[in-house]
Amino acid sequence: MSNLATRSFIEDAPLPEFVEVALPLPLRQVFTYRLPVGLQENIQLGARLLVPFGKRQLTGYAVALHQKISPELGIEEATIKDALELLDSEPLLTEEIIKLTQWTADYYATSWGEMLKASLPAGINAAVEQVYSITAKGLDELLKITSANSAKAKILQFLGGTGEISSREISKKFGASYSQRALRELVKENWASVFHRTLTAQAKPKRRKVVRLLPPESHKPDQKTFSEAQTKIVETLLKTDGEIVFTDLIETTDTSASSINTLAKRGVLEIFVQEIRRDPLENATLPDLLNLTLTDEQTTVLAEINFALQTQKYKAFLLHGVTGSGKTEIYIRAMKEVLAKGKSALMLVPEIALTPVFSRRLRAVFGNEVAILHSNLSTGERFDEWRRLRAGTARIAIGTRSAVFAPLQNIGLIIVDEEHDGSYRQHESPFYHGRDVAIVRANFAKAVVVLGSATPALESFHNSQNGKYDYLTLPNRIGNRPLATAELVDMREVFKVDGKNAIFSPQLIEAIEETHSRGEQSIILLNRRGFSSFVLCRACGETIRCNNCDITLTFHKREAKLICHYCNHRERVPHKCPLCESKFLYFVGEGTEQIEDILRRKFSNLKIARIDRDTTSRRKSFEEVLMSFSRGEIDMLVGTQMLAKGHDFPNVTLVGVISVDAGLALPDFRSAEKTFQLLTQVAGRAGRGRLQGRVLIQTFHPEHYALRHANTQSYEDFYAEEIRFRKNLNYPPFVALASILIKHSNYNYAFDNAQILRDCLQKSNVEKSCIVLGPAPAPLARLKGEHRLQILVKAGNRTKLRETLDFALSEAQEKFCDLRVVNVEIDPVNLL
Ligand code: ADP
Ligand code: ZN
Ligand code: ZN
Repeated sequence: MSNLATRSFIEDAPLPEFVEVALPLPLRQVFTYRLPVGLQENIQLGARLLVPFGKRQLTGYAVALHQKISPELGIEEATIKDALELLDSEPLLTEEIIKLTQWTADYYATSWGEMLKASLPAGINAAVEQVYSITAKGLDELLKITSANSAKAKILQFLGGTGEISSREISKKFGASYSQRALRELVKENWASVFHRTLTAQAKPKRRKVVRLLPPESHKPDQKTFSEAQTKIVETLLKTDGEIVFTDLIETTDTSASSINTLAKRGVLEIFVQEIRRDPLENATLPDLLNLTLTDEQTTVLAEINFALQTQKYKAFLLHGVTGSGKTEIYIRAMKEVLAKGKSALMLVPEIALTPVFSRRLRAVFGNEVAILHSNLSTGERFDEWRRLRAGTARIAIGTRSAVFAPLQNIGLIIVDEEHDGSYRQHESPFYHGRDVAIVRANFAKAVVVLGSATPALESFHNSQNGKYDYLTLPNRIGNRPLATAELVDMREVFKVDGKNAIFSPQLIEAIEETHSRGEQSIILLNRRGFSSFVLCRACGETIRCNNCDITLTFHKREAKLICHYCNHRERVPHKCPLCESKFLYFVGEGTEQIEDILRRKFSNLKIARIDRDTTSRRKSFEEVLMSFSRGEIDMLVGTQMLAKGHDFPNVTLVGVISVDAGLALPDFRSAEKTFQLLTQVAGRAGRGRLQGRVLIQTFHPEHYALRHANTQSYEDFYAEEIRFRKNLNYPPFVALASILIKHSNYNYAFDNAQILRDCLQKSNVEKSCIVLGPAPAPLARLKGEHRLQILVKAGNRTKLRETLDFALSEAQEKFCDLRVVNVEIDPVNLL
């Protein structure tokens, strides 16, 4: 399955004796191991190995092979430990992915091994242990032993008494180095055997036993007649086309496994193992194929992309197309073109579970050439889809962030849909940005990359202006359907009239009534990030916060508790303010639950469903709700930001946004951009069909530029204002940014380390080409019981940023700064 150059191509090439292994640990280095005989012959680049690391055994990835140790590495040969075991006969990783993950780890200053691990489907990386048992030959040998002096003899005796036992337990008893060598010798002499056992459920191919009739000539010539049960079995098999699942056969014939086994012995039938593919779209109804004629605008855009595909060179496009302008059709046609050229294509989407219609459409167009990769799949499904890509039986991958590392061979096209979406950014180690890695992958592979969005990330639009990307545009909706008009509703006016009960403006209520009286659908969206229900004291203004995390606790009605959304701390709602003891506590904001309650009461005739992280943790329930909404069985969908993403519901003509203000107030330089994007995206949900759509945005700040330009939906106007702000205040894309988070449960410890680091940063910043800010408390000053301090580093360019950081980090280490509490994030997306 691999196309890696294996040594068999080079006759008599010397075998590698050393291997460099990337380990999934938060360390920015690789480790060298010696390859014992047996491993030398079979090792391939990209295979997993079991290696000793301290007292542990870890699974790592072979990233380089050497015949000898180059002296420059400064490694003392005698100190090099042996690799223990080769875990893959066929490497999981292709050379391309090895190179790509190396680049990514280096760019984001994180661990290569962790990056490699993140690139593989979960489950495949489960911990492995070696299990030893004594063989028959070993038992013979055991009898010959008179006194057990040698390690070999001692361990053989031990194995004789224990049956199967893990190498970990053997090491515990005899010591790792003592036992490992002896065990290898025992195995070599065939006195002991070894196999691998996974410690946690590991993804593996799903197999089942199947029964098949054999032709008469293979029947054993015995004279016995068939029993009643056996006759039934044969008859059942004859009725099917000769093949049936073992357990089904027992069930339908009401017989036993032994009757089937007997027939197998008599040569009447055979039992074999069949691998079955777990298909995430197994019973899905596929949409009809569309036979669309491209519009002139689409034709122009597609021609540009196809032309770039011809040249077989790297090229990046920004496809800026308003919602409903027919970008998807272009993606599909470009992918077809790539397949026809014998290449493969990758499409990244922010949240595929939310676009079930779309995956079905791709399956309808490309059949089994499409593999789907996202986190809502079961481990088994994901594993099977991944293997179809690795084997080359599927040549189109569609998936979320980590699919950027999908093992496609000969990649010709990468599409990043909704490229501005924050979910492309991995928010924990190993940090990376799926879109940016996609661009690098395309660059390495001489492929074409298309970034598509109705609201490009500021950086991307900037890159299209400065010539890094070619700009393609689809300024009009298909059929020139008008864009939904976005209307701002000034909630201050509503508040004056309705007082604190003002949650829904009369305008929105009226719009809902109108929409549903016409038999159309609506979406109600609230900006959950800042607008959950919390408790405020009207006397002193204090909000009730989590003691661990310093964020506002959210009131959950169902449990009648205040809950911290970061650490899950829960407490009862107090009767009076913990600070001033006033009794005038006030529940501010409306969580999704309450909004839904109010709507249900007001519109008891409507079918209302809610979708958010809390209600839809159950696998596939997103999908169920969305499919049922698209079939018109639900009238109104209530939910959070995620509802704004890429769906196409033609019958939705109203979108109401309950509050956007809290999102604007977040301590993050991207909050205006994020708000603008959210509003533009959500407006795109309304009026996708032939009907005119309407968008109502309730706000207390109608004069904010993010809202004003969302109102007119002019990206260019918003961009002009936002880019000025970024320039004036030295924010990306005008600087390369790194945020350094120092976290520890002991504040002084965190602070001292932060100080050392800051001093080193100042020192390494000799040319004063960087701006170093902090340490300051991070916007979330406490999280999960840890104090968090933040240092921001702004540099004129990336090279300067890395030079300064790398120098400062190694300097800090020498000054005994504890780098384990330091987290460096390059190009942070979220400064919270
Ligand atoms: P986008 O991805 O840009 O938001 P879509 O690709 O979802 O837009 O297209 C919007 C709608 O227009 C879809 O229902 C799609 O099937 C339809 N559509 C796309 N291209 C054409 C075309 N050339 N002719 C007719 N309908 C089209
Ligand atoms: Zn908390
Ligand atoms: Zn108070």
